[in-house]
Amino acid sequence: MMQMLTDKIALVTGASRGIGYHIAKGLAAEGAHVIALARTVGGLEELDDEIKSAGGSATLVPLDLTDMAGIDRLGGAINERWGRLDVLVANAGLLGVLAPIGHIEAKTFDKTMTVNVNATWRLIRTVDPLLRKSLAGRAIVMSSGAAHSAKAFWSLYAASKAACEAMVRSWANETMNLPLRVNSVNPGATRTAMRAQAMPGEDPKTLPTAREVAAKIVPLAFPNVVETGKLFDVRENRFLDYRDPA
Ligand code: NDP
Repeated sequence: MMQMLTDKIALVTGASRGIGYHIAKGLAAEGAHVIALARTVGGLEELDDEIKSAGGSATLVPLDLTDMAGIDRLGGAINERWGRLDVLVANAGLLGVLAPIGHIEAKTFDKTMTVNVNATWRLIRTVDPLLRKSLAGRAIVMSSGAAHSAKAFWSLYAASKAACEAMVRSWANETMNLPLRVNSVNPGATRTAMRAQAMPGEDPKTLPTAREVAAKIVPLAFPNVVETGKLFDVRENRFLDYRDPA
């Protein structure tokens, strides 16, 4: 079988479970060496076992994304070992809390923004020079339909995802003339721990699995992607223009 990412180096955050786990596995199956980041070592080790038994390779990075100095060190460490980065998947995130805007605790707001926004920016900042060195750099930043839906009680999570999309749009314009392509993704409702936290009454069996969703996201890392600064909608299986209703 022809692999699309042979010899590529791919960093995936939130790779210990859910959508990120399956994106990491999918990238490795396409031949990429995966740098898998999350806090839960058990989840990362399970991923490593699965990748290795399928003939792939991975490097595990147990890191809490609230550790900004730790994120800052990543770029240097990747540069020293590989000299470039070909794929970034900024997937890690948390829901925070669903609550009326006036009832959100400051510490919940700060933690959610720290992981979803600040850490995503710090990650972009540390690997941007390495992605620019790649012959086909690809960055995928996980957003959500919540960024556009204006649903009551979702203000915190929605604001964090809208911030990520805004960063991606500007970053795309800064890198337009390079081979680098950077896009946001809306995976749509997916059968994971986060979705169960958001919608405890929902039957998870009605939702697509993380594996199915990841299979649609992995091709956004391929060298043949031409779009940049766009939002890829997994359910519609296409890039949306920001003028499209999302
Ligand atoms: P999960 O809750 O299943 O997984 C989240 C991942 O993020 C885990 O690997 C977790 O690893 C990691 N993570 C969370 N906090 C931190 C932290 N402080 N440091 C490092 N890693 C962290 O989420 P999903 O797979 O459902 O979501 C993946 C992405 O997709 C998220 O950005 C989410 O917002 C987005 N999304 C999901 C939807 C859904 O329906 N599931 C819908 C729309 C968007 P660990 O705990 O081991 O650190």
